[in-house]
Amino acid sequence: ETVLAVEGLRKIYDEGTDHANMAIDTVSFQVDKGEFVCIVGPSGAGKTTLLRCISGLAAPSAGTVTFEGRRLTEVPGQLGLVFQDYSRSLYPWFTNAENVALPLTARGMGRAERAARVTETLESVGLGHVEKKYPWELSGGMQQRVAIARALSYRPELLLMDEPFASVDAQTRFDLEDLILRVRDDLGITVVLVTHDIDEAIYLSDRIVVLSKNPSVVREVVDVTLGDGR
Ligand code: ADP
Ligand code: ADP
Repeated sequence: ETVLAVEGLRKIYDEGTDHANMAIDTVSFQVDKGEFVCIVGPSGAGKTTLLRCISGLAAPSAGTVTFEGRRLTEVPGQLGLVFQDYSRSLYPWFTNAENVALPLTARGMGRAERAARVTETLESVGLGHVEKKYPWELSGGMQQRVAIARALSYRPELLLMDEPFASVDAQTRFDLEDLILRVRDDLGITVVLVTHDIDEAIYLSDRIVVLSKNPSVVREVVDVTLGDGR
């Protein structure tokens, strides 16, 4: 069952100027419910641009993105976002619990329900003990777990991640990769993750979308076959 549909997506930066730059051109693909799709490609291929257009952070020049048949901007709460730079995505003057509570506060969830949800979500990423601490008191990998918890606290149906594990050491990256696979399995959430690391894409995903330097060349590697236990 298709939930996310990207159709004819094009993004031209500085359109109409002499330095107009076509970052992606008529990119189309679909993602099934619960599927884990990685977007890979060399630097400058348009991976971040594609993810920003899917999330609504950037306006496409042409084409559409729909989630369950509707524009994502019309269905707030269905989207969780995680970026590479955890140190800039968390607010240092808020505790970890307050950071994770932000999407809930923003949508008017009551205090008691919010507190329970924050505890539950932090526990689900293995961080039940850091609620009252501040992000800067934690290691990089733990900060990224807090950022993941914040993305998940409102229980979105779609998780978009841009190079989420690129700034942590190898062992931490392996732990976070396994964490996100478990989260996908537990929540049945749909995940689209951008990475320049093909090994990571093969390890994580059901399907890989490959962007090339040529903005209109998109390849889909379907059904990544994984050994038992991945
Ligand atoms: P990737 O994530 O694969 O490295 P990007 O989406 O960041 O690729 O970039 C694709 C192309 O779009 C590149 O040529 C880049 O220089 C250009 N680009 C990205 N962001 C902007 C921007 N905000 N303004 C102008 N050009 C941009
Ligand atoms: P085994 O000892 O059974 O061969 P692996 O070496 O395949 O186990 O995996 C050990 C851990 O390393 C996994 O749980 C996973 O976190 C990580 N891992 C393995 N392969 C990759 C990969 N290609 N990319 C990222 N992480 C990986």
